[in-house]
Amino acid sequence: MSPHYQTKKRFGQNFLTDKNIIEQIIRIINPKDSDNLVEIGPGNGALTEKLLTFCPRLWTVEIDRDLVSILKQRFMHYKNFFLIEGNALEINFSTNFAPLPIRVIGNLPYNISTPLVFHLMQHRHVIQDMLFMFQREVVERLYAKPHNKSYGRLTVMVQYFCEVFPMLDVPPEAFQPIPKVNSCFVRLLPRKQIKLSAENELILARLVSTCFQQRRKTLRNSLRKFCSEPDEFFSKINLDLRPDQISVQDYVYLSNQLGALNFDPK
Ligand code: SAM
Repeated sequence: MSPHYQTKKRFGQNFLTDKNIIEQIIRIINPKDSDNLVEIGPGNGALTEKLLTFCPRLWTVEIDRDLVSILKQRFMHYKNFFLIEGNALEINFSTNFAPLPIRVIGNLPYNISTPLVFHLMQHRHVIQDMLFMFQREVVERLYAKPHNKSYGRLTVMVQYFCEVFPMLDVPPEAFQPIPKVNSCFVRLLPRKQIKLSAENELILARLVSTCFQQRRKTLRNSLRKFCSEPDEFFSKINLDLRPDQISVQDYVYLSNQLGALNFDPK
C-alpha cells in the first residue's frame, strides 16, 4: 500500500495483509481458466494480484477514486484486468459482465454486506457462485437454523435462494487496520432448483420482512396484517409459534397461501 494512502472508514476499508490467509482464500476460490470473475472492492489489490494470474477475465468494482487510480497504475498492463469505478450496489450484474455466468467474490466492506447480498439475489440467475469475506456474525445469520437467535430475515431469504458454506474463519489481525470483529470467508451457491418454490418472490420477501419486524410476537399476530382470519388460511402452520421457529419451507407455504388470497405485495 502506498505510504500516502489514508484508509477510509466510510468505505469499510480493512485491507487483507496476512499472506497465509490470502493464499488460503485463493485456494478456496479455486479460479479456473474458464471463470469470469467479478471482484467487489479490490482495495489495493491483495486478492486481485493473485487472481489475475489464474483467470482469463477479472472484473473489479471499486468505489474509492483514490484506490481506482492506484489500481489502474498497478494492473492496467494486464490484458485480463477490467475496472469499473462505482458503487457495487448500483451495478446491474446481469448486463455488465459478459460472458455469463459470473463468479462474484470479495473481501466486502461490512456496511454493505447485507444490502449487497439482497442486490445479488436479484441477479442470481447469472451467478455461478459468490465467495465473500463477511463479519463472522453475518455468516452466523446466513447459516442459522430455526430456534437460533441468529435466524432472521437474511437467513430465510438467502437460504431460499442459495446453499451456504462457511469456508474459513479469519482473525482480526489478518487485516490492516485491525477490525474489532472476527470475520469468515463464506461461499453462497445459488440453488439450481428450489424444492418448494414461492409462486411470487415479492410476496415471500414482504411476508418474511413483516414477520421478523415483530420477532417476539406470534405468527398469528403478524399475519393479521395480511388477513383477518389467519388460522383459516394458514392451517398447516402452528400460528402460536414465533417467526424464528418455522423453517424456510414453512415461509414458502405461508407466502403461497397469501398469493392465493390475491395479496398484492407492492
Ligand atoms: N479487497 C481488498 C482487500 O482484501 O484487502 C479491500 C477490502 S476492503 C474490506 C473493502 C473495499 O471495498 C475497499 O476497497 C472499499 O473502498 C470498497 N468499497 C466500499 N464500498 C463499496 C461499494 N459500495 N462498491 C464497491 N466497492 C466498495
